[in-house]
Amino acid sequence: MPSNGGLLRELAAIVGKANVLTQDSATRPYATGYRYGAGPVLAVVRPASPLEQFRVFAACVAADVIVIAQAANTGLTGGSTPDGLYDRPLVIINTMRIKGVHLLGAGEQVVCLAGATLYELERVLSPIGREPPSVIGSSCIGASVIGGV
Ligand SMILES: Cc1cc2nc3c(=O)[nH]c(=O)nc-3n(C[C@H](O)[C@H](O)[C@H](O)COP(=O)(O)OP(=O)(O)OC[C@H]3O[C@@H](n4cnc5c(N)ncnc54)[C@H](O)[C@@H]3O)c2cc1C
Repeated sequence: MPSNGGLLRELAAIVGKANVLTQDSATRPYATGYRYGAGPVLAVVRPASPLEQFRVFAACVAADVIVIAQAANTGLTGGSTPDGLYDRPLVIINTMRIKGVHLLGAGEQVVCLAGATLYELERVLSPIGREPPSVIGSSCIGASVIGGV
């Protein structure tokens, strides 16, 4: 099992050093919930593609760290942030760089990658007269499609 330092090096090799945040000042906005939850994290990792996301997750599992999936972190239930101290190091995988909204067929269905926002979905669906599940508060503050699901 890799050490914390070994895991951080592995994560940097996958997503680039700039997308592995470890300084408290850099991680705090991601590690603090909109309404509930806050706590120390080993790192916030920002993959740019589903493949990078998979490789980051696999590295975290191999290192036996706790993983929290996070999108725009606007959720109100505390699910996207830590809550106090845990028995193992914790890594937040923030997906907001993983963009992509793909209509299937004539728009009966849509594939939204993990960082696609409600606002982007609204823009893609508008020409075909459809709407995302939420077009009220959450779309205005940059929430993702997946975070709502
Ligand atoms: C001012 C304000 C207004 C709001 N208005 C609305 C509204 O009008 N309608 C509404 O429905 N909600 C609203 N909300 C709540 C919030 O915006 C929604 O719940 C939003 O959909 C959360 O999306 P997010 O991208 O921020 O997800 P996050 O907060 O990042 O995550 C939400 C949950 O999804 C999980 N998650 C995220 N990504 C993944 C992934 N790739 N795989 C697995 N799990 C994942 C997280 O672990 C967490 O448990 C509002 C919140 C605020 C602060």
